[in-house]
Amino acid sequence: MKIVHHPERLEELPTPSQTEPWRILISGCMAGWGCGVDGTDYGMKHALADFQGLGTAQLLPYCPEDVGLGTPRTMPDLHGGDGFGVLDGSARVLDEHGGDLTEGMLAGARAMVAFARENKVQLAILTDMSGACGTQVISDGCRFDEPRRYRRGMGVAAAMLVREGFPVVSSRDFATLGKIRAHLDSTFEPDPKALDHHQQPWVIENLPES
Ligand code: SF4
Repeated sequence: MKIVHHPERLEELPTPSQTEPWRILISGCMAGWGCGVDGTDYGMKHALADFQGLGTAQLLPYCPEDVGLGTPRTMPDLHGGDGFGVLDGSARVLDEHGGDLTEGMLAGARAMVAFARENKVQLAILTDMSGACGTQVISDGCRFDEPRRYRRGMGVAAAMLVREGFPVVSSRDFATLGKIRAHLDSTFEPDPKALDHHQQPWVIENLPES
């Protein structure tokens, strides 16, 4: 489930400590891994380094596309639906050449869920807009098409994590990330003006809820 729609899930977690840190699954590129389609981290470096330094969070990076498709790779985007559609067989993952990457994306998603289970993950923070890790917004069809199209929805791995009961947060859910940081560090005061991705004006204006 998306934490932004179920904030009570955060309150249900035990208080994190140095000896019992929250176990948080994160997208590999958010840890600075060179696991992007082009072998880079998309410039993210270590996006959650401040969480890591607190000692109350154990960050567990994983890249489902690297596992399912390898790196470098062609660009996997969702066609005909979102990640849930792929899980249900009504949508496919195609690359920019029309190649069908659906099976590799499903294999990577299954491996990510197994990793989450093995590591008793309590929460996942994933890179939004990705065909695998997208959590609030994804590309609608090939992202190299002009103009690029977007839709609300989740990528394949994010959808499988949600369906398996793992709470998921987007890298662009800034309000929720502030709340998580406040759980990890009692001295931290979240920005009351921060917004989650679905609350951003561009999303509200351009991507109506279906
Ligand atoms: S699949 Fe996820 S972890 Fe891998 S590069 Fe894409 S967004 Fe990052």
